[in-house]
Amino acid sequence: MTNQLPSHAETMFDWDADQYTPFYTDLLNSELTQATSQAWLAQWTRLADLTGEVESKLYTATTVDTNDAIAEARFKKFLNEIYPVLMMNEDMLKRKLIASGVDVPELTIPMRNIRSDVILFREENLSLFSEEGELGMEYDKVIGAQTITWDGEEITLPQVQLTLKETDRARREQIWRLAEERRLQDKDVLDAQWRKFMNIRKQVTANAGTADYRAFQWQSKHRFDYTPEDAIAFNKAVEEVVVPVAAKLYERRRKRLGVDTLRPWDILVDPDNNSALKPYETVEELENTMATLFDRVDPQLGGYYRMMMNEELLDLDNRKGKAPGGYCTYFPNIKRPFIFMNAVGVHDDVNTLLHEGGHAFHAFESASLPYSQLQDVPMEFAEVASMAMELIGAPYLSKANGGFYSETDANRARVEHLEGILQFWGYMSVVDSFQHWIYTHHDIATDPSACDEKWAELWSRYMVGIDYTGLEHFLSNRWRRQLHIFQLPFYYIEYGLAQLGAVQVWSNALNNQAGALADYRKALALGGTVKLPDLFATAGAKLAFDTQTLADAVELVEKTIYQLDPM
Ligand SMILES: [Zn+2]
Repeated sequence: MTNQLPSHAETMFDWDADQYTPFYTDLLNSELTQATSQAWLAQWTRLADLTGEVESKLYTATTVDTNDAIAEARFKKFLNEIYPVLMMNEDMLKRKLIASGVDVPELTIPMRNIRSDVILFREENLSLFSEEGELGMEYDKVIGAQTITWDGEEITLPQVQLTLKETDRARREQIWRLAEERRLQDKDVLDAQWRKFMNIRKQVTANAGTADYRAFQWQSKHRFDYTPEDAIAFNKAVEEVVVPVAAKLYERRRKRLGVDTLRPWDILVDPDNNSALKPYETVEELENTMATLFDRVDPQLGGYYRMMMNEELLDLDNRKGKAPGGYCTYFPNIKRPFIFMNAVGVHDDVNTLLHEGGHAFHAFESASLPYSQLQDVPMEFAEVASMAMELIGAPYLSKANGGFYSETDANRARVEHLEGILQFWGYMSVVDSFQHWIYTHHDIATDPSACDEKWAELWSRYMVGIDYTGLEHFLSNRWRRQLHIFQLPFYYIEYGLAQLGAVQVWSNALNNQAGALADYRKALALGGTVKLPDLFATAGAKLAFDTQTLADAVELVEKTIYQLDPM
């Protein structure tokens, strides 16, 4: 190699596309044989780690301060000018690797991804992906600008959740209706975006030559270990075994609240009309208590978390100018994860930090794999790491166990979480089934009103127990607020499959905490080196789509709810 890569991603923050190219050219021109393959792959990994870190750090900078104009300009330049060049070069490297015929046993599973990417790659799709990305930003702007006036103040729609936890039912109904009315105002602009998204995706499919856009996404998401039929079977299993139990719990909630029917504004409030949980006063308290909690889950994991504290890899507080939401990203060059969230003093913050902590542990455990392709973890399993941590960490929520709450409140937090799991599976099936229908009926579904109808039909199948009488026009509009449908098509069943894996890992931990944690860490350390079912198996779970496995998980969740909250 003639060109010397920098040691730090920061050096590259303002690079132009042509400053990246020589490093790819070096790799493309150098000899790739069995004898040189390790060095060649290691060099590719160095380059991929640096470019990956440039991307994640530039993105992170735009979220920690949304008013940072330099950060925004850098990230936009990266997306528009650098990223397409990197993609073209990555494609050429993949082709070179395949053509070389070298046999790298560790790469057996990643090679499936690489081959699939090369088959699917079309230069003419790159500009369509950029267009899709920009349309996605327009969608974000529309959603992000949605506010209402409440108690004399302008609040965002995510903030509405806080009032939906209040005990005054009339206030809950009022704010719910205000929020939904506000959402309806953007119907036309979102519909125009939707038609554009659908037309882009039609063109992408035609360019790639796949049977439909579902087939394109299946291949693009490297779903080699399950089929669309498996996903549909899983949704059917949800309908059979989750929906009746969720409906029973909604009915229990209705009785406790003492209302005639359960309305959409009755879902988040405490069923005994207690005020919302308050886990901590200051963000320092949240940060430190979580360290104790993770220590108790597993000392090694606690150590990772403390490392993140010491190295300032946690940005937890909610402050002006910070982007909404929470995420965990990875800086591959320095081999460290980074957690971003907006803590405002509610229980969701604790849950978010448990969840993102699971992702961070995944990054630590798999950091020493030698080639970047080996760290390409399937999302279906990445979410097992995070969702399992929410469940495994839950017994430590009480003060007596090092956590935040009195025994009563800790139980309340756990019940809310467990009920949420059962409610979520049904919603997941609405979103996933909806997308199967959309992309196997592309032309029909380009018409948003057809989507409205389909959404309402699926909702009534999977979300039994909430009374939407007289609110049908709000209900059929609801798909427009699910960003995955607009921006991340077909990315949703991952959560449902992972949740099932997570419940199984938790079930193991109930029997043998140390053993379950050892299996969990072993599976995380595998990165993307084995097939998806083998990742699940190593973690002590089964990648499953069948009714029985789901029924067993639902039974454990339901049983635990009744244990913690006998009523
Ligand atoms: Zn996650």
